[in-house]
Amino acid sequence: MTCIMDDLSAPLSPGLYIVATPIGNLADLSPRAASILARADLIAVEDSRVTARLLHHVGVKRPMAPYHDHNADQVRPGLVARLGTAAIALVSDAGTPLISDPGFKLVRDARAAGHPVVTIPGPCAAVAALTLAGLPTDRFFFLGFLPPKEKARADAIAEVAAIRATLILYESGPRLPATLAALAAGLGDREAAVAREISKAFEECVTDTLSALAARYAEGGPRGEIVIVVGPPGEAAAPEAADVDAALVEAMTRLPTARAAGEVARATGLPRRDLYARAMALRDAE
Ligand code: SAM
Repeated sequence: MTCIMDDLSAPLSPGLYIVATPIGNLADLSPRAASILARADLIAVEDSRVTARLLHHVGVKRPMAPYHDHNADQVRPGLVARLGTAAIALVSDAGTPLISDPGFKLVRDARAAGHPVVTIPGPCAAVAALTLAGLPTDRFFFLGFLPPKEKARADAIAEVAAIRATLILYESGPRLPATLAALAAGLGDREAAVAREISKAFEECVTDTLSALAARYAEGGPRGEIVIVVGPPGEAAAPEAADVDAALVEAMTRLPTARAAGEVARATGLPRRDLYARAMALRDAE
C-alpha cells in the first residue's frame, strides 16, 4: 500500500478538495477529512447549517460558501477562479460529494482550468448498502433516484432490466412503496434489500424478494433515508443454436452482417464476436 503522508497541520496547497462526510454517524468522519476541513480557506457547502454542525463536532470554524443545485451555475466560475490561490473543500450534506449530489461540473471546470483536484474518500450510502445487502458485488450499477412520475420511472426501470449486475437506487420513505412495486413489475421477482438509516441508531437492512418487499411496505414507507439494492437477473437458459441461426438469418435480411450480429447479441446476451463469425459462416453457406 502506498501511503500519502499528509502533514495534517501544514497549510493546504491551493486546489479543490472533495471531502466525504458521514451519512449519519459523525464518528465516521475520517481524521484526514477533518484536517482538510480545518485547513481549507473556504468550504463549498450544500446547506451551511448542516456543515456548521459537522464543523462544530470537530471544533473548527471555516468560511463557507453555498454551492447547490440552485446556484451552482452562477457561483462555479468564481470558485474556479479562486482555486489558483485558495484551498477550497467541497462537501455535501452527507456522504460523498458528486454522488447524487452537486459537484461534477466543479471538478470538470477545475480540471479544465489546470487546478489540482484531490479526493478525500469516505462514506457513501450506495456502497454502504451494497455491503449490507448480501447480494453479488462483482458488478453493480448505480441508478441514483428514479424519476418520480410513473411512466418515466417504468421507462427507467425497463432500460436497466437486462443489465447483468446488482442495481443500487436511492429512495425516500414516502416513495418506497410505489418504487418497490414498479421494480417488481419491471424486473421480475429478484432478490433485493431495503437498507435504511445506515450508521444511525435505527439502522436496518431487510432482505427478501422484490414482491415480498413491495407487499411489506405497501401500506407506507418507513421513516428515514433508504437505499434499495436489487440482485441481478437470474441466468437465462442458453438459446437453442437453431434459434440463434434463425435470428441471424432473419436479421441479415434487414441489416449488414455486423449489425445483424450486434442485434442478436443484444437480444440473446451471446458474445457479438461469436455471432459475427456464425453469421459469416451462414452467409457463405448460402
Ligand atoms: N452523496 C450521498 C452519498 O454519498 O451517499 C447521497 C446523497 S443523496 C442526495 C441522499 C440519499 O442517499 C438519501 O435519499 C438516501 O437514499 C441515501 N442515504 C443517505 N444517507 C443514508 C443513510 N444513512 N442510510 C440510507 N440511505 C442513505
